[in-house]
Amino acid sequence: MGLGEGYVMAGGHLAHWVSGLLRRGALGGPKGYGQSRKFVVEVFRCPSCGHLELFANQPM
Ligand SMILES: [Zn+2]
Repeated sequence: MGLGEGYVMAGGHLAHWVSGLLRRGALGGPKGYGQSRKFVVEVFRCPSCGHLELFANQPM
């Protein structure tokens, strides 16, 4: 059975993969985020067991 294509929403935004180590700022949010490479996260779900496969090939 093929995996179903989809995506992940996080806090009302499309989830994306960001390169580098996560460093948090004073308010707990990511810091130094601007120079990171970002890719859209595409998610494929197995309809029988729910297993997810993640891919990040499309730059944002
Ligand atoms: Zn499965």
